[in-house]
Amino acid sequence: MPTADTIAPRAIVEAHGISKRFGDLEVLSDIDFRLDSSEVVCVIGPSGSGKSTLLRCLAFLEPYDNGSVYIDGQLLGYDQRGGMRVRAGERRIDEVRAPVGMVFQHFHLWPHRTALENVTEALRLVNGLSRRDAEAEGMAMLERVGLAERAGHFPESLSGGQKQRVAIARALAMKPRVMLFDEPTSALDPELVGEVLDVMKQLAADGMTMVIVTHEMGFAANVSNRVVFMDQGQVVESGPPSILFRQPRSARLKQFLNTWR
Ligand code: ADP
Ligand code: MG
Repeated sequence: MPTADTIAPRAIVEAHGISKRFGDLEVLSDIDFRLDSSEVVCVIGPSGSGKSTLLRCLAFLEPYDNGSVYIDGQLLGYDQRGGMRVRAGERRIDEVRAPVGMVFQHFHLWPHRTALENVTEALRLVNGLSRRDAEAEGMAMLERVGLAERAGHFPESLSGGQKQRVAIARALAMKPRVMLFDEPTSALDPELVGEVLDVMKQLAADGMTMVIVTHEMGFAANVSNRVVFMDQGQVVESGPPSILFRQPRSARLKQFLNTWR
């Protein structure tokens, strides 16, 4: 058995041979994925290509059929090879997932809790912080996304962009080693996209390690270190945005980029 040290001395995310089926449909085919500290990777690709499923596997929200995921050198969930499952010890599932923060297209805020309560919920229930400590931490996170003055507001009185920033603050509060974003601006009115992208840009500048599924090609070109193009459950091409966008090699990527120009 390789140890974390031999596999990934500096990788924050290391996935080997991830495969996943839903019934007869192979959704992920033998995906290898590595992300170093402070790297920002954008994942692009057509609808149905497996982008969300890949993120969900990286966050252990979805069991995979084969392969293994290491986050910061720690086996996440289990290592599955040739039908043999090696479990990541007897840790609780929220402990296993703790190093991975996830932000979804549709925010998933609690509607009957304020912005601050949405951020402090897991700090209190999962991390066991007192109300006072959780609120101090929660306010710091809301400040980081520019929403301190909205702390007492309920989601229904926030704009989509503000809701998504609360969701980002909530994920950040858990001090993740990596943040995964699944189309974080796709549900937003166009005029609200910028404020969310600005928060993500700032996180990148602060050195956060991030994986972002997005159709915002300008953002991918300007902010990411690497772009991964997926199609039909495979990583078809991967490289720095300057190369991937300007000199796509595969017909599939060329065709995909043409639809976005
Ligand atoms: P993307 O995010 O790139 O649009 P997804 O990862 O959501 O792609 O989906 C990849 C494929 O897996 C699609 O064909 C989708 O219909 C299928 N799929 C996703 N989730 C499920 C599920 N829970 N059950 C069955 N099929 C699913
Ligand atoms: Mg998706």
